[in-house]
Amino acid sequence: MKKIGTINKTKEAIEKNKFHIKKKFGQNFLVDQNILQKIVEIPTINKDTLVIEIGPGLGSLTEYLLEKSLHVLAYEIDSELVRILSETFQEDNLSIIGEDFLKRDVDNDIKTLNIKYKSVVVVANLPYYITTPIILKIIEESKLIKELVVMTQLEVARRLTSKPSTKDYNSLSVAIQYKTKAEIAMKVPKNVFIPAPNVDSAIVKLEILDDVLLKPKSEEHFYNLVRSSFKQRRKTLVNNLHVRYGEEKINLISYLENLDLNGQIRAENLSVRDFIRLSDYLYSKSIK
Ligand code: SAM
Repeated sequence: MKKIGTINKTKEAIEKNKFHIKKKFGQNFLVDQNILQKIVEIPTINKDTLVIEIGPGLGSLTEYLLEKSLHVLAYEIDSELVRILSETFQEDNLSIIGEDFLKRDVDNDIKTLNIKYKSVVVVANLPYYITTPIILKIIEESKLIKELVVMTQLEVARRLTSKPSTKDYNSLSVAIQYKTKAEIAMKVPKNVFIPAPNVDSAIVKLEILDDVLLKPKSEEHFYNLVRSSFKQRRKTLVNNLHVRYGEEKINLISYLENLDLNGQIRAENLSVRDFIRLSDYLYSKSIK
């Protein structure tokens, strides 16, 4: 029998602990056993796997993760929830860090656990107000995490996974797909949460690419270029680059043409590979 993860048990836990749901921490608790079961089947988790969970809340997902994995390292910012979690779970294979995940060095926390694992994956129903910073932090900073399976707003899930020349493709899509294979694994309706959020959600699966196929000469230049290129979506790429770098438009058009790109192209039409080629080209011309 599960301890939590149904409407009744979640309500019971909230009442028993006199817990007040905090909107500012993006607290929407999952209360559907079917969805919870499906989420933990998406990543590859076995008894050699270390799972990182960001925002365990009352522990509905944690309960499933503890059963399947070697160990769960959970980060929870809300001290009230840290107390409730410690009372709910006595399992040895759970470690809770009661702090803001964004302030932690996750690889260092993993090493400090000092356990023998074969793989590290992130599984989380993320707080929606900081979904993007959390994902970017992990893919930019961690060398140990190989896979992320995360619940996000459907709109964000679409941006993370969308392809060039579609309406949702933006700078986040490029930054994510440069380092990961990204796909929507499942859509999730609002009514499986307490309280129900205003929008639908989705589970996104991000697999870190072992070897990035093509690496820019300067990642910093690449990320800056991508951000500036999408700054004003309705403008052409040349216009956005002119604003960012101050280079004459006529020169920028000829640089694009040298790379076999149309001078009138918009950022949304460039693939990740195109952005890398363009970044290297501008970088070699000292346009930074
Ligand atoms: N995993 C639980 C579930 O599915 O029922 C709760 C998910 S809820 C959407 C997000 C959780 O993240 C909350 O428990 C919230 O307190 C926690 N949280 C919010 N900001 C955080 C941060 N910066 N670091 C760690 N946890 C955070």
